[in-house]
Amino acid sequence: MNTYDRLISGYREFKKNYLGDENREWLKVAGERQDPKVMMVACSDSRVHPAILTRSALGELFMVRNVANVVPPFEKDDAEGTYHGTSAAIEFAVNNLHVEHIIIMGHSGCGGIEALMDQSVTGENSDFSFIRPWMKIVEQANEFNEREVTTMSKKSRVCVCEQRAILISLNNLVTFPWVRDAIKEGKLQLHAWYFDIKSGNLSEYDRDSESFVEIK
Ligand SMILES: [Zn+2]
Repeated sequence: MNTYDRLISGYREFKKNYLGDENREWLKVAGERQDPKVMMVACSDSRVHPAILTRSALGELFMVRNVANVVPPFEKDDAEGTYHGTSAAIEFAVNNLHVEHIIIMGHSGCGGIEALMDQSVTGENSDFSFIRPWMKIVEQANEFNEREVTTMSKKSRVCVCEQRAILISLNNLVTFPWVRDAIKEGKLQLHAWYFDIKSGNLSEYDRDSESFVEIK
């Protein structure tokens, strides 16, 4: 079976089993409106699928997936041709859906971070790229001092860069006034996750130890 036919076959199986038998009761409510409690910002990477790795059902996760799970800072920008898809989704999630949690999930082996680190999209000489200005949002994640460069392996630096980028996005979230307000009112919690693809281990950022701690 080719790749496309496999998708169609998967859909038929979903329609018959998931909608037909396993979730009949839930579907009665789902037709009305969505009421997710969680927004997740994840990477577009095909190996990191939030609904699959949290076993979430339809209606549970309000999703944004973009290159390297980046959240830009709050910017009032009326310039024609400037678009803020991720910011619009955050606004809708907090102001209209009143989600209780926003999770930013990064991962190992992230192509966006790799591009940032090897300058392939941020370098002066590269051709036009949409990825370049996008990854610049988290370019501070790639700032390593001399000691770090000499003592850390490339692999460790990639991991550190991926995790720092998640935290930059987490800090950017708080620059949105309605996010800040919801947190102050105790209605919203922010979380940072890091998924290691090879081991399948998921870690959560712990503010006390200022590190990502594996969820057991
Ligand atoms: Zn990625």
